[in-house]
Amino acid sequence: MDCVFCKIIAGEIPAQTVGENSQAVAFKDINPAAKVHILVVPKQHTKNISELTDDAVLSGLFALAREVAAMTTNGEFRLQVNTGASEGQSVFHTHLHILSGSPIGAA
Ligand code: 5GP
Ligand code: ZN
Repeated sequence: MDCVFCKIIAGEIPAQTVGENSQAVAFKDINPAAKVHILVVPKQHTKNISELTDDAVLSGLFALAREVAAMTTNGEFRLQVNTGASEGQSVFHTHLHILSGSPIGAA
């Protein structure tokens, strides 16, 4: 399968990892939209959050998001999950965006 996040998880493409647990990895977004912009990605491939129904994966994913957000922000952040191309999803491997701080590219 030609999935960029599966390749990052497999170590075939480099990424700036900021955290990991048994179910998920977190790494910096390559094109940050805010001062803090981290992607939290389940190791198991699913297309989007609507297809992610495994309780253990969901639990691990959100536990890592909570941990990484606590580590990289002052406790105030946005958690964004684009679902479907028409809603801005461009990588079709489920992921959470942790966004915090000044937008990048905005005036
Ligand atoms: P989406 O638009 O699907 O919600 O978010 C995909 C995100 O993945 C984008 O913010 C994009 O910058 C990021 N991204 C795409 N390819 C790579 C990559 O190879 N490495 C990293 N670190 N981020 C990527
Ligand atoms: Zn994948």
